[in-house]
Amino acid sequence: MRVVLLGPPGAGKGTQAEFIAARLAVPAISTGDIFRANVSGQTELGQKAKVYMDAGDLVPDEITVAMVKDRLAQPDAVNGFLLDGFPRTIAQAEQLAASLAELGHGLDRVLELVVEEEELVRRLSGRRMLVDGEMVQRDDDKPETVRHRLEVYREQTAPLSGFYDDEGLLSRIDAIGAVDEVTARALRALGVDPEGTAPGAAAAGA
Ligand code: AMP
Repeated sequence: MRVVLLGPPGAGKGTQAEFIAARLAVPAISTGDIFRANVSGQTELGQKAKVYMDAGDLVPDEITVAMVKDRLAQPDAVNGFLLDGFPRTIAQAEQLAASLAELGHGLDRVLELVVEEEELVRRLSGRRMLVDGEMVQRDDDKPETVRHRLEVYREQTAPLSGFYDDEGLLSRIDAIGAVDEVTARALRALGVDPEGTAPGAAAAGA
């Protein structure tokens, strides 16, 4: 299955992506995680991306799209994937559709995690992640940057909801509630039984 997970910062995309992808037996591909790994590894890509990330802005499409194309060409993503945090602009969505079409593929579904803005601000300002054994706040989770990231989402990413709805691909998921309840709603929207075992589990010997 080829799935995109859409949603504002703080909607729980990363957490849901891991659970949904495990159930579908496809890789969860997070552009934010790939950028952060490149920033920590001080690669050239990371150095370019950091400036935009720290400001809460989007990394330019040409850098992001090339990176995603490389990742989707890897063997584990050939038969399916769950994209978390990509596309984030209409131009990225069009380029994704074009590269999938070249391979004779298309997206099966786009899930949009829906959470109202007050709740997002509350979640983001309290969010911490584990780095080298310590819980730290992401630089781009500082209050001023959070406000800017939400603005960027409204202006550049939210239009994707209408874009994919027009294509008949969009399912909106209420993302308030316990993590496993939200996962179950997302899986049902994909026509997958939340209680079953992962389709790839038997083949993988798990
Ligand atoms: P995330 O972890 O998805 O919140 O992403 C963190 C940051 O990485 C974003 O605020 C952007 O600066 C950058 N980023 C992640 N995905 C994309 C994308 N698809 N296009 C542009 N920038 C992105």
